Amino acid sequence: MNLNNLERQRVGLECTNCHTRIPLDRSLTGCPACGESLLEAVYDFGQMDIPVWLSQVKNRRPNLWRYREVLPIASAHNIVSMGEGGTPLIKSHALAASLGLKHLYIKDERQGPTGSFKDRQATVAISALKEMGVDELVVASTGNVAIAYAAYCARAGIKLWAFFPSLTPGDKMREAALYGAEVIKITGTYDQTKELAARFAQTKGIFLDRGIKSVAAIEAMKTMAYEIADDLGAELLGGERWLAPDWFLQGVSGGMGPIGVGKGFREMLNFGLVDQMPRMGLVQSAGCAPMVEAFRRGQRIATPIDNPQTIIATLATGNPGRAYEVLYDYVRRHGGYFTAATDEDAFTATLILARTDGISVEPATAVTFAGLINMVRERVIKPDDIVVVNCSGHTMSVEKHVLGDQWQHSVDLSGQDKTPALPEEGLLSALEQVEAQVRRIVIIEDNVDAARLIQRILQARGSYDIHLAHDGVAGIQLIRDLMPDLVVTDLMMPDVDGFAVIDTMKSDKLMARIPIVVVTAKDLTPKEKARLSGQIEMLLQKGSFIDEEFIESLVSKLP
Ligand SMILES: *Cc1c(COP(=O)(O)O)cnc(C)c1O
Ligand SMILES: [Zn+2]
Repeated sequence: MNLNNLERQRVGLECTNCHTRIPLDRSLTGCPACGESLLEAVYDFGQMDIPVWLSQVKNRRPNLWRYREVLPIASAHNIVSMGEGGTPLIKSHALAASLGLKHLYIKDERQGPTGSFKDRQATVAISALKEMGVDELVVASTGNVAIAYAAYCARAGIKLWAFFPSLTPGDKMREAALYGAEVIKITGTYDQTKELAARFAQTKGIFLDRGIKSVAAIEAMKTMAYEIADDLGAELLGGERWLAPDWFLQGVSGGMGPIGVGKGFREMLNFGLVDQMPRMGLVQSAGCAPMVEAFRRGQRIATPIDNPQTIIATLATGNPGRAYEVLYDYVRRHGGYFTAATDEDAFTATLILARTDGISVEPATAVTFAGLINMVRERVIKPDDIVVVNCSGHTMSVEKHVLGDQWQHSVDLSGQDKTPALPEEGLLSALEQVEAQVRRIVIIEDNVDAARLIQRILQARGSYDIHLAHDGVAGIQLIRDLMPDLVVTDLMMPDVDGFAVIDTMKSDKLMARIPIVVVTAKDLTPKEKARLSGQIEMLLQKGSFIDEEFIESLVSKLP
């Protein structure tokens, strides 16, 4: 086999259920023999000279296409790439020490072109679509897939329809819109959003992204495994051989990452490149943990969660379906653990990780680190274990002033039953209801971390346009300029404090009408209480923690 000759057909499909081999046909949605919807790419490895291949790989640029012989694209001309993959494997020092771990590695997937490991999926999936000649695509996403697809579709000249559940942070939807995607916000769960996107694609005859059932997606994710084994070998074995870790950890929603990584290690084991399969540490958000719950009950089929109770939209897949079976089988066979972490644990982990190892992550990634902490505490992970954590996504903020107000369309499914029965015409007319009421909030808080945390949690809940000021003077200026719908202020600040902010607002005709919420850690004297009485909407004592209840009460004060 000429390894540089990508034109040659060397990839086929195999049914994960009955193992029938089928030639690669990207329009297939299931096994022709048994109907199974999960098909897997298989390669013509028979004639592959592994040492030769390895030396070729080494000489290529460090991005995921260096493994192109094991990726399902026929022609290099179709590759849509921005140098994704090849992310660093960072050794953790402080966090590892505080957990008593000797070998903790962070696979820094934040360093992709759109800031998450979904860039891997996007480069392979969009290249495959380009190869098929597809020019319009529908995807349902909790955020990162749509952002990555939007960027790669822009490069490939493919029109993207991105459907988001309303839990997705406004910033993420805005980012997809920035790349030119048609953004459709569905007021409903992620599972409902997927269903609606599928109907939309079917009605309009547009290609639908198959998510976890897409061969390209699984193949893309497996490149993480190749990179990890290569880098761990270099780090711990002096580059003589590749090395599989004892553990691979990830925050799991649909399960594409660990399924792909598992397949990667299986291939490397077959090649003789590694000599073990890693155990999988699979972490879910406690408010949406169908896999963890099924695993604890010893069940291979998960019971879907109809109403996820988490603000971490990225991990809000209520019905993992077939993906859980695959992961369950993996864990049974090769070892592993399913665990859950609360949103509060995740936000705590965010701070710990940022302040120990200098790494800022999005909440879905923080869940993984919270899970790591659990697994070390429960002694599931041992001090000598080699642990790799998928640091799956970055925190990101998006330029808000580029797009104007009309960048999204909304469809409200709330109040309908679980399976929305839309009239045939209904969807299109519903899509025409464009609602872009972004509510504006000014937060005045001299503690930068506290301010950002409030901002982040609020943004995870909906389309709020949030502006921060870290002292009273800047705060008053912002309020004058923006005339927000709500002001949240701290009391104790140097120079112009919260009391002065309130007095200034109340003595101005326009600003006097804006509701004020005071957040303070201070025990107020009777005199201070009297000073606030009648002036503010609500007083919140802030504990050491800003939790969901706190945010609930905040949001309830919006007009
Ligand atoms: C998609 C995503 C996950 C979950 O990935 P799956 O493997 O599909 O379950 C975790 N973290 C981030 C940042 C993601 O974008
Ligand atoms: Zn089959």
